[in-house]
Amino acid sequence: MLTALLGEKVFSTIHYTREELKNLRRKRTIFLCPHCSSELNLRIGNQNVPHFAHQSQFLCELGKQHESPRHLLTKQLLYERLREHFTEVKVEYYVKEIQQIADVYVKTDTKKIAIEIQCSSIPIPDILSRTRGYQSKNFTPFWMLTQPVTEKQKGLLQLPSFQQAFIRYSPHLHHFLLHFSPEDRSFTIFTHLIPVSVSAFISAAPVRIPIEQFTLPLSIPHPTVNHPYLLKNWNQFRMKWIYNKLHYNKAKDDLFLREVYREGDTFLYLPLFVGMPVFPHGIHFMNHAVEWQYYLWKDCMKKDTFFSEEKVVEVLKRRMDRGFLEFRTLPFVCGDQLLKELVKSYLSLLKDMQVVRRMDGGQYQLSRPWNCPDNFSGFEKHQHDFFPKWKHILKKV
Ligand SMILES: [Zn+2]
Repeated sequence: MLTALLGEKVFSTIHYTREELKNLRRKRTIFLCPHCSSELNLRIGNQNVPHFAHQSQFLCELGKQHESPRHLLTKQLLYERLREHFTEVKVEYYVKEIQQIADVYVKTDTKKIAIEIQCSSIPIPDILSRTRGYQSKNFTPFWMLTQPVTEKQKGLLQLPSFQQAFIRYSPHLHHFLLHFSPEDRSFTIFTHLIPVSVSAFISAAPVRIPIEQFTLPLSIPHPTVNHPYLLKNWNQFRMKWIYNKLHYNKAKDDLFLREVYREGDTFLYLPLFVGMPVFPHGIHFMNHAVEWQYYLWKDCMKKDTFFSEEKVVEVLKRRMDRGFLEFRTLPFVCGDQLLKELVKSYLSLLKDMQVVRRMDGGQYQLSRPWNCPDNFSGFEKHQHDFFPKWKHILKKV
């Protein structure tokens, strides 16, 4: 904690130098917790941001929230930066009616912004309920992820579901993740995220914003994104996913594999239009693109001569209800027609690639029936016919 009560007044360590604080401590000044009124210790080390700590942390709600040195440092850095722009900035701002404490509070010309800094994982429902709490009192919550993000290799992020919950969407950045590193004193934005498995995402070259350039509302420079670079490896990831599934999953325990085998399809030789990246909403399925597009293909395209967009939506909905498919929890990405939009984008991709034809009246039909190759050279021929079209389309995305 950076704030305490000194008599009747709110006292914040960030307004004082280490020396001034040490003086106060020498004089045995008494600081009380604004929440539980118990006496606090003033800690002034050489490394960490000076802060208050409960003598017995378990008796107080505030004391229980363990704050790492990174959390304290982030609060201080944000406070100092925002103070240069706004007159009303506070740390640990208590909103009494909803009993929530914003890490940093800022009043801009138009908004009351409550900044929440997340250095550690909390349950996603807590994020949602705190968000609703702020909104009910006309605060705009601004969630900031400061927990370290793992970049497995250049342009490939490994994001646990907690970090995925911080993904946002904007038309020019597509799906993106905003991250703050107090050590580097800078924000990093990973843009154009495309999932390649449940938790791995490819991203465009990250955009960095030093804290000296940070203000609210956050303005993000337009990144120059080289799409073909992003998508160059898509098929490689698709094949890797297929091989992993073959190696590590047993058909008897795997809903998807069981279905593929029962249908008599050769998993390795599925048509390449099953498992394509779909922009921008494909990210919503937690299942790999091969999975949901396979179900769609099996339940609709293979079976029916004609199928409509509505039918495809219905088929996927049914698969979701039965537990075959699942959406990710992305609380900061809004949209009430996501599944419909997703189906529309996929069908239009298939149409552009001449996999399907769109008939008058809006029905679709497979351009030619799919004959599963019975050996690798048959599949190579399919690749040879398919890739030139695919590359052309993806370049336009
Ligand atoms: Zn307390």
